[in-house]
Amino acid sequence: MLCELVGKRKLAEKIYDFTVQCPEMAKNARTGQFLHILCGGEAYLRRPISICDVVDKRYIRFVFEVKGVGTDALAKYELGSRLDILGPLGNGFELHPEDKNAVLLIGGGIGVFPLLFLAKQMKGRATVLLGFRNKQSVIMADEFATVSRNVFLATDDGSFGYHGFVTDVLKNILSSNPVSRIYTCGPAPMMKLVCQIAGENALPVQASLEERMGCGIGACVTCTCTVGGQRKRVCKDGPVFDGAEVEWNG
Ligand SMILES: Cc1cc2nc3c(=O)[nH]c(=O)nc-3n(C[C@H](O)[C@H](O)[C@H](O)COP(=O)(O)OP(=O)(O)OC[C@H]3O[C@@H](n4cnc5c(N)ncnc54)[C@H](O)[C@@H]3O)c2cc1C
Repeated sequence: MLCELVGKRKLAEKIYDFTVQCPEMAKNARTGQFLHILCGGEAYLRRPISICDVVDKRYIRFVFEVKGVGTDALAKYELGSRLDILGPLGNGFELHPEDKNAVLLIGGGIGVFPLLFLAKQMKGRATVLLGFRNKQSVIMADEFATVSRNVFLATDDGSFGYHGFVTDVLKNILSSNPVSRIYTCGPAPMMKLVCQIAGENALPVQASLEERMGCGIGACVTCTCTVGGQRKRVCKDGPVFDGAEVEWNG
């Protein structure tokens, strides 16, 4: 669909927050799904970007970091431009309103963006753990605070929040609180450890994987990973999988 860019903000160095008007996509969008965006410039293939939020059932918001040619071209669009977007795509997070104990949302770096929509859907029940490199890269923490029960922050260098990895915060929480379920999105080493800790504590965990993608609709099989001993397409079968079944590389 061609969607008008109606909101554009620079949140931090190389981080952009876009809102597009797209009522058809917005009303079908589920938490954890993504958009496949034709960025222009030298990027021939579309680039996958997670849905960060749906506003008034008319607008979709996504937040992205400029990494290379595609996201660099995307960042240059001005308000009023029309973006060519395929979506919403993929299988997102499964909600479990029946959970009685704490539900933990664990994000790292650009992996925090899709968790905002999830936290909102949980209507104040989510406990959110966010990990960043340093104070300068802490992003959207205030927004998470307005929609969550608790927000815990960790930075690798200790310049903000807990000094260390978000997985240390996870271990602390698990040592003194009953928890029902974990959702995670972020760098693969972080998610691997989150899933390992979840397994040691017999907790269900859903992980949103990130792989380089081609078509985004399951045809080109570029973005495969191994889940439950089978090859799965991140775009079509995921990006959210049962974290206990994911075979992490490395
Ligand atoms: C389901 C899904 C959801 C995503 N959601 C978001 C989001 O909400 N916000 C956001 O900022 N990013 C998100 N990403 C990552 C984003 O798609 C990539 O950063 C983007 O495609 C890079 O394109 P580019 O043309 O700017 O970079 P390129 O020029 O293609 O590459 C620049 C550098 O980044 C590396 N790279 C590119 N894509 C990936 C990848 N998927 N995994 C590992 N390394 C990669 C390349 O190897 C290269 O070193 C998501 C990815 C997936 C699969």
